[in-house]
Amino acid sequence: MDFHCHLDLYPDARKVYVEASDRVEFVWLVTTSPRAFAATSKVLPASERIFISPGLHPEVADKKFGELEMLLSQMELYSGVGEVGLDGSSRYKQHFELQKNIFQSVLQHSVTLGGRVLSIHSRSSAKEVLGLLEAHSGFGVAVLHWFTDSPSQLSRAKEMGCWFSVGPAMLASANGRRLAGQMPRDRVVPESDGPFAKVRGASVMPWEAATVAVKLAEIWGIQRKESELLLRANGLRLSRYLASSDGIHVSGG
Ligand code: MN
Repeated sequence: MDFHCHLDLYPDARKVYVEASDRVEFVWLVTTSPRAFAATSKVLPASERIFISPGLHPEVADKKFGELEMLLSQMELYSGVGEVGLDGSSRYKQHFELQKNIFQSVLQHSVTLGGRVLSIHSRSSAKEVLGLLEAHSGFGVAVLHWFTDSPSQLSRAKEMGCWFSVGPAMLASANGRRLAGQMPRDRVVPESDGPFAKVRGASVMPWEAATVAVKLAEIWGIQRKESELLLRANGLRLSRYLASSDGIHVSGG
């Protein structure tokens, strides 16, 4: 399973889509803008195995702000939203206030709709992301993707009931492995974050997300079989939330 993939952005997306449909039990295809979501849904249709969600990536907040209303109306029909969130790194922080406006609107609308499952970007902004989640009780379920912040923010996220999607690129770094070691094992799912995430220069493919089971077994000090079973049970639980259509009611969110 792969819970965060920009499948539409691989050079040969149609081919990757066909292969992923064949080899991967469940793919969460996150999009970066409401228009991209509409276009992608036409060429790479959602299926039992491929879940596509509308999103508005914080890196393009300044260019796509005008599509916010479109996102809010798309959210009415889908239980998942992503990619959304904040990016406080030097390259994007000049639009941080705008990013916050968008993310707040998404959270507020999630509350109104009875809860949504969100795939969340939190680069250099975990403190603000968690603060906004706290301020919108009833927003649903947060899946923090490629979490790279401090151990203290991680433990705060853990207490708040957040999920984490972890990919091969994250586990290639010592810091990523250290953080993964502290994640709640019953709320971790695999992701590829392809084609952006790369390992040894090559984009991670959706069917490679599951390889995190090997490294997580080492990090957690358990058998590989056990980590595979854990990830699959978590994945099934999360994909069930995504499949539900009448709001997401989960404690801890
Ligand atoms: Mn991403």
